[in-house]
Amino acid sequence: MSDSVPMWTESGDAGATGRGSRAVFRGVGPPRGTDLLADPTLNKDTAFTEAERDEFGLRGLLPWRVVSIDEQVDIEMERIRRKADDLEKYIGLAALHDRNETLFYRVLLNNLDELAPIVYTPTVGQVCRLFGKVMRRQQGLWITPDDVDRIPDLLRNTGRPDVRLIVATDNERILGLGDQGAGGMGIPIGKLALYTAGAGLHPTSTLAISLDAGTDNEGLLADPHYLGYPKPRLRDGAYEAFIEAFVEAVLEVYPHTVLQWEDFKQHNAIRLLDRYRHRLASFNDDVQGTAAVVAAGILTALRVTGQPLSAQRLVLLGAGASGIGIARLFEALLRDAGLSAREVRRAVVLLDSHGLLYEGRDHIADDKRLHVLPRQEFEDYGFQPIDPIDLSTVIHHVVPTVLVGASAVPGAITEAAVREMASRVATPLVLPLSNPTSLAEATPSDVFAWSNGRALVATGSPFEPVKVDGHERVVGQANNVFIFPGIGLGTIVSCAHEVTDRMFQVAATTLAGLVSPDRLATGALYPGLSELRTVSRAIALAVARTARDEGIGRMADDEQLEAAVDAAIWTPDYPQASSSELDEC
Ligand code: NAD
Repeated sequence: MSDSVPMWTESGDAGATGRGSRAVFRGVGPPRGTDLLADPTLNKDTAFTEAERDEFGLRGLLPWRVVSIDEQVDIEMERIRRKADDLEKYIGLAALHDRNETLFYRVLLNNLDELAPIVYTPTVGQVCRLFGKVMRRQQGLWITPDDVDRIPDLLRNTGRPDVRLIVATDNERILGLGDQGAGGMGIPIGKLALYTAGAGLHPTSTLAISLDAGTDNEGLLADPHYLGYPKPRLRDGAYEAFIEAFVEAVLEVYPHTVLQWEDFKQHNAIRLLDRYRHRLASFNDDVQGTAAVVAAGILTALRVTGQPLSAQRLVLLGAGASGIGIARLFEALLRDAGLSAREVRRAVVLLDSHGLLYEGRDHIADDKRLHVLPRQEFEDYGFQPIDPIDLSTVIHHVVPTVLVGASAVPGAITEAAVREMASRVATPLVLPLSNPTSLAEATPSDVFAWSNGRALVATGSPFEPVKVDGHERVVGQANNVFIFPGIGLGTIVSCAHEVTDRMFQVAATTLAGLVSPDRLATGALYPGLSELRTVSRAIALAVARTARDEGIGRMADDEQLEAAVDAAIWTPDYPQASSSELDEC
């Protein structure tokens, strides 16, 4: 294939991530002239070569100079940096995506540190709230209760014959912002942009889906311009039937796809994950991705402190989807480290909005029951059953080495709590995870101040470095983006029919091993976002090996898996790369 030949002259052989299938699927020849420029998947703008301009009727439709993609990236970054605020930057990037998809991904990939916070958190929270006003061009698929009998048709309407990764949300718990109705679509769109930038999944092999089951957001229901399904949310049997019809449709139309459940409210999140995880390759990033990224932060911190994993005690402020996910994975790691069942129950302690979760307390939802502090441990720790038992009291009795905030309550990690922790452990590890930034349970500068600079801190949202005793401390971001692209890619490449807990464990250990000594020296517990492709590749490989070793993925040796992972990673460039030797499941 010559460098000047555009992607639509490839054969129709769909690669591991769906490359090369578009022209054949359309059943028509490649577009020419203005049609070609108007197709964001094929458009190269000023990068069309002289030969292409002749061949595809582009003469006169473009200015004289042929520009390289790298120059185009510089020009686009200049435009984006001139925008007045982050929302405007998001809108500018969305316009670029609508015009020239390849260039959009190249810009994003080359500037991940700067642009990930624009295409995803924290800016995406604002985008979800203003979705109807921000979005210009349709992206993704909308499924409402009116469609329950025709979901396979809707999936086919996308024009994407080989979707390998779906991110679907029912919009009920968008970041820490609650029910955003149709605006929640900003989240799967943002996540998929990061899948492509982070793991090189080709955009045509991905699909963002809004399971628009209505909304209970009164403001949206009262808004005459609301674009979503303007009725109260489906509940109970009707909701379950809606989700079941969706899963059946996915299995029918895209039997080899990986499904990521995204931003479902706690009880639905855990129940749907557990119900469907063995029926199709699926996972919930809020539950499992968060757990893996937090576990990675803890394992990285142990590289700094030199302590064994088996000696850690974890207090989780927040027992929602992410809190329970973190508890599940951390408990599995402790079991692997040799702790008995009883020691594990004692080492992981959760609080929710009613305080400490302990056996015999009122208001305990079913999905939290496995994580209550057993009566014996409650007594051994010296607690008295006077509700609510607050964070400082829990820290006083449990003496955790790790404190994680996943409550979406700003300020919930208090000065008293951190001071108490710092008075009992040499290097407290504190992770205020809640997003967006305004919801963080504590700021890094406060945690450093309250711990006399001894704490190790990582956050869910990006924070600027903090000067502590004259030294700059970099605040690593416990961003799920370090996990989910590699999980998705590894599952696809291995053709695994399930996404297992073990895969998240190996993702966590792999990520922890990739934090460079230089980053560790600054106090950062995670790599920089510019390292995302390296991280995702390593995790994908570890996941594919795990799938093989667990007997649920393709049987291939390490070298073949490595070659398959590399072949499946798309680099946004105008000529397309060749497909993988292990493409077909
Ligand atoms: P959720 O709604 O499922 O759970 C929230 C939990 O917090 C519930 O258990 C609730 O009872 C508890 N809670 C509420 N008020 C509390 C209080 N005052 N004290 C203690 N607990 C309290 O939400 P979730 O999906 O678990 O997400 C929680 C937050 O974590 C969100 O802001 C989300 O953006 C963030 N999060 C961050 C990351 C990340 O950065 N890697 C990943 C996932 C979630």
